[in-house]
Amino acid sequence: MSDSVGNIVSSIHAWAPKESALSYDNVGLQIGRRDAPVVRGIVALDLTPQIVQEAIEKGANLIVTHHPVIFKALSHITDTTLVSSMALTLAEHRIALIAAHTNLDAARGGVSFHLAKTLGLEQVDFLEGMEDVVRKLTVFVPPEFAEAVREAAHEAGGGQIGAYSDCSFSVGGTGQFRPTSSANPFIGTTGGPIERLHEVRIEMVVESWKIDEVLSAIKQVHPYEEVAYDVTAVSGRSRNVGIGAVGNLPAPVSLAQFLSNSAVALSTEALRYAGDANKTISRVAVCGGSGGEFIPAAIRSGADVFVTGDLSYHRFFDVLDVHGEAKMALIDAGHYETEQGTEDLLLDHLRHSFDSIEWSKTQFRSSPSHIWTKKQT
Ligand SMILES: [Zn+2]
Repeated sequence: MSDSVGNIVSSIHAWAPKESALSYDNVGLQIGRRDAPVVRGIVALDLTPQIVQEAIEKGANLIVTHHPVIFKALSHITDTTLVSSMALTLAEHRIALIAAHTNLDAARGGVSFHLAKTLGLEQVDFLEGMEDVVRKLTVFVPPEFAEAVREAAHEAGGGQIGAYSDCSFSVGGTGQFRPTSSANPFIGTTGGPIERLHEVRIEMVVESWKIDEVLSAIKQVHPYEEVAYDVTAVSGRSRNVGIGAVGNLPAPVSLAQFLSNSAVALSTEALRYAGDANKTISRVAVCGGSGGEFIPAAIRSGADVFVTGDLSYHRFFDVLDVHGEAKMALIDAGHYETEQGTEDLLLDHLRHSFDSIEWSKTQFRSSPSHIWTKKQT
C-alpha cells in the first residue's frame, strides 16, 4: 500500500470501521489532504500544543490520535483558542491529523483488548457485542456460480464471526421466474414460459455498513440480470464490534494483589476501588476510558472485578448488594491510565501496515491531570 494520508485512514477503518463509532463522535481524517504523502508519523492519545511542536520539529507529516481534537464544530480557525490554534498550526505546517476514537474502542483487538493484555488477561473477548449492527444476507444463485458468489462476498467482508472468516451456509432448492418481454435473461426466453431450475441459497452474516459493498461484489460475479437476495436484521449482538473486554487471569489472586499488579502495569500511583481486598479475583472485565455505564454488563459477565476510568462517586454504589457488600469489585484507574496503551496499539498497527514510514510515539504525557501523592509533600 502506498503511504498517503488517505491509505492510512483506509487501513485504520478496515480494522476499526468508522460506522462503528458512536453517533456523537467525530473520527477519521480531521485535518489534511488524502493524497498527501507520509514519510514520518507520530501517535498520541490526545493532541496538545507540545505534541504539535514535537511533530513540527521531527518533520512529521501526520499525527494519529485516539481522542479527536475537533469534536464540536469550530466557529473559526484562528490562534485564539486551544483547539483552533492547534488546527491552524497543523494546517500551516501541512501536518495531517487522524482520530481513531470510539471506533477503536469498538474494534476487536482495540483499546479495551489492549488494556486486558496489559493487565495480563487471557481468553479475552468483548464484554458486550454491539447491538443492531448484524444483518443476514441471503442470495440465490445457480450451483455453478455458488463458489464465485461466496468468494466475492467473503472477500468484501461478509461472513465474519469473531475469529472466523468465510462463514456461510448453503442449501439447494428450486427457483422459478418468467422472463417478461423487457427481460434479458441468462437462462430462458424473453417473454417466454416460467423457468424452473436448481439454485443454491447462500446465507451469511454481514455488518450493516458492509451490506452495499458485499452486494455489489456479488453482482459482479452473479450471472442473473436481476439478482434475488434478501437482507434481514438479526437480533442479538455482534461478535465483531463491541464494548469493553473480559478475560481470565492466568492464576487467581487476591484483590489486594490485583490492585498492586494493576498499579504497576498501568504506571499509576493511585487506584480508587470498592470491594473486599481479600476476595479472590480470577475473571476481570475492563473498559478503557469512561466505562461506568457498563457496570451492569461487567456484573452479567461474571467478572470478579471491573477496571475502568472516570467513575463518579455514586457509581461505586452500583456494585453493592442488599447488605452493602460489593457483588463485584470496582476499580477506577483513570481515563488516561486505562487508555495510554492505545499509543502502542496504534503504533503496532501502523508500523505493521506501513513499514516504510518512520513512526514514533509522542514523548509527552498528553494528560493535563496528575496525581499528587502524600509522599511528595
Ligand atoms: Zn478516552
